[in-house]
Amino acid sequence: MGVTLERALEIANQYPLAKKEEKLPLMMASGRILYSDLKSKVDDPRFDNSAMDGWAVREADCKEEGTILRIVGTSQAGSEEIPIVGSGEACKIMTGAQIPEGADAIVMVEDSTTQPNNVTINGPARPGFIRRKGENLAQGTVALSSGTVLTPACISLAATMGYADVSVVGKPKIAVIGVGDELTPPGEPLSESSIYESNTFGISSLVEKMGGTPRRLDLIKDSIDHLRETLVEAAESCDAIITSGGVSMGEWDIVRRIMEQEGDVRFWKIMMRPGGPPLFGTWMGKPIFGLPGNPVSSHVVFTVLVAPWMSSSMGVHEASRPRLSIRVRVMMEEPLKGAPGKLCMRRISIRQEGDKLIGSTRTHQGSGNIHSMVAHNGLSLLPPDSDCEEGDTIHALWLI
Ligand code: AMP
Ligand code: MG
Repeated sequence: MGVTLERALEIANQYPLAKKEEKLPLMMASGRILYSDLKSKVDDPRFDNSAMDGWAVREADCKEEGTILRIVGTSQAGSEEIPIVGSGEACKIMTGAQIPEGADAIVMVEDSTTQPNNVTINGPARPGFIRRKGENLAQGTVALSSGTVLTPACISLAATMGYADVSVVGKPKIAVIGVGDELTPPGEPLSESSIYESNTFGISSLVEKMGGTPRRLDLIKDSIDHLRETLVEAAESCDAIITSGGVSMGEWDIVRRIMEQEGDVRFWKIMMRPGGPPLFGTWMGKPIFGLPGNPVSSHVVFTVLVAPWMSSSMGVHEASRPRLSIRVRVMMEEPLKGAPGKLCMRRISIRQEGDKLIGSTRTHQGSGNIHSMVAHNGLSLLPPDSDCEEGDTIHALWLI
């Protein structure tokens, strides 16, 4: 039977990753998760400045078109000495430069004609062209809060606020262990009965994409003693453990057996297809996900269970989470068969046509066929016991 996917996530979320702090130069922090709030060290803008190239003037002097003002000097971005603007006077000003004392409006350069010592004003003087000190951000404001994923715009804002270094959430180290007698690393000679091992590579790459550091450990050749040793090493050196294979009903399903006998199982089996038999619990106090061995199953379970757990565990805001998929509605071009009693996640291709998302499915769907994950870019979310007819709109995950 097992639990629903929602319940599985709820249970896993009770065992979050331990959050560690890492201080990094700003240049190294792109894409990382902010550990603590950042308060602005300065006002932004730092001082009243001009939004336009033109003339800093007194608005009251410029009520009539054709007014002639005496030029008192120039304020350019970065100038230290700025003239004062008195009545009947104008100071040449560049975008971003400080507003001279006495001036309260800007005339655009396009609205003026210049003589050697005077300027004729041919257009309006606008106070609205002054960018006010602190109008974007007052000093002391928390503009980036802990848990924010640092996008390029966030990096720019952190620099604006005066930060050369930032504290980010340390990348969790996650052990990845493949289990199965038949598994041989790619590049090595295959025997008659062996296959290339792929899951630990796929899962490690998913861990990396989610902001973790994978640590691939020895492949386990279906030996419970070797598995125990490796799990101990994993628990001692990593923050969480992911295994692939060996969680079904069979006698050789040693991950399930060792967890039942020596670990702490919180759930086994999720009501979903593919990916039915995953297991979750703790081993020596560390969260452990036992993913199924079928390559598609392990990939899908990672996407819908491990990835959201990693995100919320690292304290990431819902809106800015690193994620592997986006929930969307798609109109299916072909019928899809659901699964009795299980959430059914078939591989589908999603494309945009106008303002609609269209889904189709073409290749062989077997849960052993990792090529189906490459050929498609989505997963259906068909509720238990429901099929989809051609033309139906369904919920789906768009893989990104
Ligand atoms: P299991 O969950 O151990 O019963 O494995 C289910 C299927 O997935 C079998 O056909 C295995 O050969 C295959 N499999 C298990 N582990 C891996 C792996 N790490 N890489 C590729 N295929 C695997
Ligand atoms: Mg196996």
